[in-house]
Amino acid sequence: MAILLDGRQTASKCRERIRAQVETLVKETGVRPGLAVILVGEDPASQVYVRNKKRACEDVGFVSEEYRLSADVPETELLDLIDTLNEKETIDGILVQLPLPQGFDEKKVIAAIAPRKDVDAFGFENVGRIMTGDFDFVPCTPAGILMLLKEYGVELAGKRAVVIGRSNIVGKPMAMLLLHENATVSICHSHTKDLGAITREAEILVAAVGKAGFVTADMVKDGAVVIDVGMNRTEKGLCGDVNFEAVKEKAAMITPVPGGVGPMTIAMLLQNTLTSAKKRAAARQ
Ligand code: NAP
Repeated sequence: MAILLDGRQTASKCRERIRAQVETLVKETGVRPGLAVILVGEDPASQVYVRNKKRACEDVGFVSEEYRLSADVPETELLDLIDTLNEKETIDGILVQLPLPQGFDEKKVIAAIAPRKDVDAFGFENVGRIMTGDFDFVPCTPAGILMLLKEYGVELAGKRAVVIGRSNIVGKPMAMLLLHENATVSICHSHTKDLGAITREAEILVAAVGKAGFVTADMVKDGAVVIDVGMNRTEKGLCGDVNFEAVKEKAAMITPVPGGVGPMTIAMLLQNTLTSAKKRAAARQ
């Protein structure tokens, strides 16, 4: 039976560290980190994510602002709001909850966020910085995974890592961060031939596919560390991309769903916002 990589516990430790740093920052500089979250439309899953992010901000002592726009507002209204928040002194991070309703140009909207406030690290400048290894903000899900691996003492240098999925928000940045940690990385996707042959080589296997139970035990090397990013809503509830019951008997370590990667993602959003606030404080001195 594999060791469970406990994202709730690790995220909670991380939030405690952030809370302590916020107190010091406020005491020494008067700067309190501020995060603005923008929700467009009524998507129920997005509403839950936004509520959780707001709660997490309040929990660590951030200023948290929430903006709700209806799905039929003109895109210019959203862009104007982002412009206002770009200029707002007390806001260090701006997050537009994705996916946006149909008709919005996500790339254009994300590009409108000032890179210094792009705490999701989805904008072109921050993505480029991740490629070169010269970054302040790391995309929250891959960064959370890396922190979890480090917390459990998983060595990455020289390891064979396989990432299934090449999305801009998970797969690609995950592969880049593993590469920066000196792992040897393969990225697989829907056109990959003989996927199992590749995943069976993985000492670190990250599944970010969006298909419940996609990774079966026969795709996993004995003693692998298996990271399940998937959050699939099924009639049985929330399910990961990994067939947990079977794979946990083969892997050395595995993340549960829920309670694995998810809580780490929010902790990293807080971390990025704190980093931005520290820069604001330093610029004032
Ligand atoms: P996405 O944009 O839909 O990307 C899915 C990736 O899986 C694509 O690259 C796709 O390949 C690949 N894929 C699909 N079918 C495949 C197959 N049969 N064989 C190999 N690869 C295949 O999804 P995402 O945004 O990365 O999210 C992935 C999952 O993670 C979702 O369940 C999402 O809800 C979850 N998620 C969780 C968190 C968290 O905090 N825990 C954060 C973000 C996302 P192609 O590129 O060829 O289409």
